[in-house]
Amino acid sequence: MLIIGSHVGYKKDSGLVGSVKEALSYNANTFMFYTGAPQNTVRSSIDLDNVKEAYKLMEENNINKDNVIVHAPYIINLANSDESKFNFSCNFLSEELKRVNTFGMKYLVLHPGSHVGLGVDEGISNIVKALNLVLSKDDSNVMILLETMAGKGSEVGRTFEELKRIIDGVSKKERIGICLDTCHLNDAGYDLNNFDDVLDEFDKLIGIDKIKCIHINDSKNTLSSHKDRHENIGKGTIGLDTLIKVINNPILKDVPKILETPYIDGVAPYKEEIALIKKNTHI
Ligand code: FE
Ligand code: FE
Ligand code: ZN
Repeated sequence: MLIIGSHVGYKKDSGLVGSVKEALSYNANTFMFYTGAPQNTVRSSIDLDNVKEAYKLMEENNINKDNVIVHAPYIINLANSDESKFNFSCNFLSEELKRVNTFGMKYLVLHPGSHVGLGVDEGISNIVKALNLVLSKDDSNVMILLETMAGKGSEVGRTFEELKRIIDGVSKKERIGICLDTCHLNDAGYDLNNFDDVLDEFDKLIGIDKIKCIHINDSKNTLSSHKDRHENIGKGTIGLDTLIKVINNPILKDVPKILETPYIDGVAPYKEEIALIKKNTHI
């Protein structure tokens, strides 16, 4: 079955119930949310009654909690060795894992980090150190999904090789998975017109079973542009046909697909985009 949803809001007052209602308004059967604003670390305490009510609503509408994704804030950067920034990022990631566990979700998407001029090797070694530190102290089963990045600025995780090197360094490998992002893959230089070849390469290096989430976005920029600007489905350089081929791929049929496309004139495009995708898919 097609598991499709989008990024939705999470507000202090409406909590997870508000997020579920937003997802349902798009006719989605999953969703992704940030536990607070993506760009800051202000996090309110979790209202467990609200979570309970949200789960009831999810059950009534066939949303499986194991398909719901949480995205960590961008402010976490595990690749920077500056001591205060490194410690801050590790602590925040630890707290975030606890929050995801309290929500009862399984997956936390994380941008690996930016090496800020230190170089890829040092960036990777910092990320490995951070993940080992955080995971050694965490007793939840929440899986951290490293997102494939566009390679904007000094982002680490642009290539499958870089992601593999991170996983290789982590002791608790069962706690690490991957989130593919179609816009990022395109901007990083992976041609989605040859998606089978891309998946093949991924499988040889990392293993397809590590893919637990796919962000479905078109791109405003061309292959290898290293830009990371999302475009609405079918309006960008990847195009509807290619995105549909990714979604229809039988190997990835049980992997949740999440839209992070831009609002149009202040309005979420997700209801229309999900309808468009459903019309064109057969999984
Ligand atoms: Fe992301
Ligand atoms: Fe993404
Ligand atoms: Zn992006």
